[in-house]
Amino acid sequence: MTQILNAKPVVQAMKENLQQEVAALKAEGINPTLGIIRVGSRPDDVYYENSIIKNCDNLGIATKTYSLDLNISMEEFTKVMTGVNNDSTVHGIMLFRPLPKQLDEEVIKHLISADKDIDCMNPLNLAKVFEGDMSGLLPCTPAACMETLSHYSYNLSGANVVVMGRSLVVGKPLAMMLLKENATVTMCHSKTKDMAGIAKKADIIIAAMGRAKMIDDKYVSENTVVIDVGINDAGDGKMCGDVDYDAVVDKVSAITPVPGGVGSITTAILMKNCLRAARKKHW
Ligand code: NAP
Repeated sequence: MTQILNAKPVVQAMKENLQQEVAALKAEGINPTLGIIRVGSRPDDVYYENSIIKNCDNLGIATKTYSLDLNISMEEFTKVMTGVNNDSTVHGIMLFRPLPKQLDEEVIKHLISADKDIDCMNPLNLAKVFEGDMSGLLPCTPAACMETLSHYSYNLSGANVVVMGRSLVVGKPLAMMLLKENATVTMCHSKTKDMAGIAKKADIIIAAMGRAKMIDDKYVSENTVVIDVGINDAGDGKMCGDVDYDAVVDKVSAITPVPGGVGSITTAILMKNCLRAARKKHW
C-alpha cells in the first residue's frame, strides 16, 4: 500500500518546534520579526503575503510590511532595502519575486543582508550550502524536501537519490543537502539520456523540472519514494506536479501529493529561517 507523504503532519510537527523557539527567544527578550517587501500588488504576491502574515501571527512572529510602488526606481528601492537591512528590530527579510524589470535582481541579491536573507537570495547563503554547512539560512524548497524525508524517517545514508532538475533554486542546493546526509546523488537535466532508466533504479526520485505530469510509470518501481516539487498549471484550472500522480500512485512505495505536499512546507521553512536569523543575531 502506497504511503502518501502529506505535508500536514510535517507542518504540524514543525509548528510545535517553532512555537517553542519563539517562546525561548521571547524569554530572552528577543521579539522575532519578519520584514516583508512587496513591489506592486500582484494578486499572487498579496495572497502569499497574507498567508505568511497569518502564519507569523499564529506563531507569535511579528511582521513589518513594506508595500512599494510598482514603478519604484532602483535608487529608491536600494534606500528601502538598506533601511530594512539596518533596522535592528527586523530579523528576517522576505522579498517577493519576480521584480519589475527596472529592478536588477542580480544587484539586489547581493544587497539583501545575508544575515536576514530568509529566502536564500544572497549567494553567500547558497555558498554555505555548497560548502556542506547547513547551519545558515537554507533555500526553502530544497529544505522542504529534506524536512519531508526526515519527518517520514527515510534514512538517506547510502540511498540512491535521483534529482531531476539542476536549477540554483531547487536541484543544485538540494543535491548538496542530500550529499551532506550521505546519499548517493544523481543529477538529471534536459540533456540526460535515458532518465527513465536511471530513475527506475533509484530509491528516491525528486522531480523539480516544471514539466506537468511528465514522470509516469516508466520512471518508477514499486520501491520508489517519489518527491514531487513541481507546481504546474494542469490546464483544467487545477494545479499539478511534475509527476503523473494518478499513473504512479499505486505503483510506488510512497509519494508526495500536489497540492498538499512539498509546496505547503515552504512557508514553515521561511518561519524557521526567520527564527534562525533572530537567534544568530543575538549570539
Ligand atoms: P527551472 O529553473 O526552470 O529549472 C528546471 C530544471 O529542470 C532545469 O535544470 C532543466 O534542465 C530541467 N528540465 C526541464 N525539462 C526537463 C526534461 N524534460 N527532462 C529533464 N530535465 C528537465 O525550474 P525551478 O525553478 O527549479 O522549478 C522547477 C519546478 O519546481 C517548477 O514546477 C516550479 O514551479 C517548482 N517549484 C516549486 C516550489 C515549491 O515550493 N514547491 C518552489 C520553486 C519551484 P536544464 O538545466 O538542462 O535546462
